[in-house]
Amino acid sequence: MTIGQQQQYLDAMGIQRWVRRDRVVEDNDVIDTGETADTGEVNKIISGIVKDVADNTRIEVPLVDWQTLQSQVAACTACDLHKTRTQTVFGVGNQNAEWLVVGEAPGAEEDRQGEPFVGRAGQLLNAMLLAIGLKREQVYIANILKCRPPNNRDPRPEEVACCEPFLKRQVALLKPKIILAVGRIAAQNLLKTDTRIGALRGNRYSYADTGIPVVVTYHPAYLLRSPKEKRKAWEDLKYACRILSEQKN
Ligand code: SF4
Repeated sequence: MTIGQQQQYLDAMGIQRWVRRDRVVEDNDVIDTGETADTGEVNKIISGIVKDVADNTRIEVPLVDWQTLQSQVAACTACDLHKTRTQTVFGVGNQNAEWLVVGEAPGAEEDRQGEPFVGRAGQLLNAMLLAIGLKREQVYIANILKCRPPNNRDPRPEEVACCEPFLKRQVALLKPKIILAVGRIAAQNLLKTDTRIGALRGNRYSYADTGIPVVVTYHPAYLLRSPKEKRKAWEDLKYACRILSEQKN
């Protein structure tokens, strides 16, 4: 991606005025999407899944493939959210992606369309990804919950616990190089913490002891309400790119 193209995408995010020319050059890294995780990493992920299934008494997700997993999610009635959903929102994107973007839960539009991050927030997420040289189709996007909580309320702990094996299996199948947690709910549930999002940003975490790095940023819906925070989101994206680059070196 050229600097001009990147500036165009930053314009779409509304943060072009904050980006210094030297920073643009510094962070204009090419992201190779062709690599896969090594065997040790995969084994660690699978071990985590098996342990998780053993620990979770409400739902079990064996080592199924993408198609079977999606069917299981579509038929899931493990928590009360199945009663109010229009449809499940499994996830979307490249099943060989290096980047996994994890959000909170489907909203009204996602519930209607069956796809995560659509509407204005989805468009901003697309712009954020393009700013680091990624098309939406190059990443995988999923949520903590696969069904919409009524009135967009926060997910309840028991709902997260019920749904967690599905996301864990998605991670095991995808083997991402990096996970971008967007928003407080996603970050706190992925990292098993109640630390506020402002304090979680700017640090590298590991997802469920798998060694897969997790970086936290703001949810695009929040950025639409608080555009001044887009600059911080841009810093988070650059930080995630640096971590990915370090992984490869
Ligand atoms: Fe099942 Fe998850 Fe939907 Fe609950 S939110 S019904 S656990 S798919």
